[in-house]
Amino acid sequence: MSHFDLVVRSGLLVGHDQVVAADLGVRDGRVAAVGTGLAGADEEVDASGLWVLPGLVDPHVHLRDPGMTDKEDFGTGTAAAAVGGVTTVLDMPNTIPPVATPALLAEKRDRVAPKAHVDFGLYGLLDQESSAAMAGFAAQGAAGVKLFMGQTTGDNPCPDDGAIFAGLRAAGAAGLVVGVHAENNPLLQRLAAELRAAGRTDPHAHLESRPSVVEAEAVQRVLALASVTDAHVHIHHLSSADGLAAFRRARRAGARASCEALVAHLLLDERAYEEHGNLVKLNPPIRARADVDALRAALLGGEVDCVATDHAPHTAVEQAEVDVWRAHGGFIGVETLLPLLLTQVAAGWLGACQLVRLTSLGPARIWGLYPRKGHLGLGADADLVLVDPAREATVRPELLHSKHPVTPFAGWPLVGAPVATYLRGRLVARDGALVGRPTGRFVAPARLAGLLAGERTRA
Ligand SMILES: [Zn+2]
Repeated sequence: MSHFDLVVRSGLLVGHDQVVAADLGVRDGRVAAVGTGLAGADEEVDASGLWVLPGLVDPHVHLRDPGMTDKEDFGTGTAAAAVGGVTTVLDMPNTIPPVATPALLAEKRDRVAPKAHVDFGLYGLLDQESSAAMAGFAAQGAAGVKLFMGQTTGDNPCPDDGAIFAGLRAAGAAGLVVGVHAENNPLLQRLAAELRAAGRTDPHAHLESRPSVVEAEAVQRVLALASVTDAHVHIHHLSSADGLAAFRRARRAGARASCEALVAHLLLDERAYEEHGNLVKLNPPIRARADVDALRAALLGGEVDCVATDHAPHTAVEQAEVDVWRAHGGFIGVETLLPLLLTQVAAGWLGACQLVRLTSLGPARIWGLYPRKGHLGLGADADLVLVDPAREATVRPELLHSKHPVTPFAGWPLVGAPVATYLRGRLVARDGALVGRPTGRFVAPARLAGLLAGERTRA
């Protein structure tokens, strides 16, 4: 009789604070042992020469399902995640319809679950009307609620400060993380109108319409409003030195807040507008080199809590739009997240343990998925990524799994690649290809697990 369902032998287990050479034993989908010479397994995988990472948690994706499945759907988006070593995604609510009520969240969950190749959480929407829905969102196991302070895909109207305050207060009482797209909408609309009136249609005008004060003011305002509530505010895609400064001031004053940096904001600067045009239009925008450097310094200084992708697919036709005001914001990223960050590790400015802290443990903690996710300790879900740290490649769009694999990272050299991904002990991707049928499950923050009426997904 075997002791383990799976033993991953002789890998280097990379955690957020240490690297250990050991075998890892899996039983019933969970990490059951870490040690040397583990014996008695139904299946063995030789991981010598490989790193074993806890599966990545990307807390910011837009899989466009339902309503915009010409851009992406839950099947293709989570296939891209699985192949890329991302075993949990948190999907944003600006779908059609937007996830504005707890009933719509439940509907979306039941609709997308059968297509999910990785585990997933779902955000509800904090809008002008939804403060009364916060307890309901929590009861449905929402990962959090998203507050769009500035315009973006879906054009969901931005709530006014009164509604923001009411939403923060209600979300705090319900124990929901409030994820914030922090941009001052009237200001960016005004500046865009001025640039448009001046005849500008070029990609760089997007950055000029959203200077860093647009972000910094919104960061400061939402954290000021939240400071007299119990809400945990998570600032998504913090992008500027001024925005960071505003965040830092509030956190030093005691704000209950976390922040995220995007791969795109860490790896691209404003020169990208010349090379890629509106493909790199992003909200908040790709910025000047000084902002990129400030973001990297804050990340290395421990001030950034997680790194996400803001995976935001559009069709290839949409991504080719030349008029900046008609172009869509965002581009894909979930499948290239890990390879691009491994390449930064190889380049020497990012550490392997930092990578795990920023892409696995950090997000798992913020969204209440720890201790089930985010580490390789006993009892954790056996979400594993086997990485060949020396494998060299280039980003090849034709090998990606999104519906429209258009990325500004095409052709970028890579050092380090995920070679196998396990979801709760089961192989879901190997060597760039998907394995098996969708087995992803809905995940809710741990503090709510006891309140949920069983696991409302397929076994
Ligand atoms: Zn987003």
